[in-house]
Amino acid sequence: MDAYYASPSASFHDNTIARRFYQQRLNHLKFTPYPKDGLVTFGASGTNKCDREIIYKNAKVKAEKSDDLPSRGRQRRLGSAVIEYFQLDLIHMKKRLGDKAIFTVAETESGEFAFEDAAQLRKVFEHNGVKFAITAKPDGILDYDNKQLLFEYKTKATGIIEMNGKLDYSGAQDDHLQQVTAESLLFGIREGLIVYESTQKPSWFSDEDKKNVPKTRKTWRDGSPISDLRAEYFYITDDMQTKLLDGLAKQAALVYNGEVPEITFDMTQKCGFCPFTKHCKATLSDAEKAKLREIDSKMALSNMAYKYQHNNLVEYLKGVREGDEGEAI
Ligand code: SF4
Repeated sequence: MDAYYASPSASFHDNTIARRFYQQRLNHLKFTPYPKDGLVTFGASGTNKCDREIIYKNAKVKAEKSDDLPSRGRQRRLGSAVIEYFQLDLIHMKKRLGDKAIFTVAETESGEFAFEDAAQLRKVFEHNGVKFAITAKPDGILDYDNKQLLFEYKTKATGIIEMNGKLDYSGAQDDHLQQVTAESLLFGIREGLIVYESTQKPSWFSDEDKKNVPKTRKTWRDGSPISDLRAEYFYITDDMQTKLLDGLAKQAALVYNGEVPEITFDMTQKCGFCPFTKHCKATLSDAEKAKLREIDSKMALSNMAYKYQHNNLVEYLKGVREGDEGEAI
């Protein structure tokens, strides 16, 4: 990837390749519903959701739609635009790099590039006596060394230093690994790459000697820019697949039985993109509220006070009022 972007030819696209790419995009600009088999269907990228969110979604609780911060809207569209362009770049690798293009984009049986909708699969599973379906649209499937790799591309707005720091410390994000675990079950491919791109770029020229740039914000190190692109290799084991299927079977059973599980601290760590927060808070029992408040008080006195996990809980508790005992879904 670095060889491609370093090349002057990366600045323009080949018309024939680009036309094929955009034609494929056009062909898939349509809505294709899941088959009506009455099964709970999990999207691979939504396999890390909280149990309550899954219940609300399947119970057709109305998703809350409120205005978001405009900057977040722009960030979302930046992420979508980057991946689309990255896919277009990927299919140029062979032409631009020749034999140096060791990863190339696989093609589907119908001769399309194996990207997203063209590669989408839905498969029914029966696990622990529960039937459900998983569907996935990987960002890509790559041909590499006579085998295939799953490929996911993630943009990060947190900045180069934070992105690299997190990846150095704990590798690919858990929810991203869960997504590719789901994909491995559908496509029968266990290896792949999750590639992270920071939307912040290193300064154009070295900032190492610039006195006006604080040490913690420098984007060059030892005479080179800090990488804004990181590829995390993964191999999905049987245990990872079983753990995922266990969790999904449990959630599907909750949906079929119409049970809303009690709130837990762990659930409050997943609220960032949940469209049911008001409903969730409004349906808490007094006992659930008391339990969360107790955890909050203990955390506030611990070394976790107002760090990431505690802040998520504090955020959830905003707007949770005493005496508002909720109703079932
Ligand atoms: S608001 Fe949080 S706890 Fe409630 S359903 Fe959504 S993710 Fe789960």
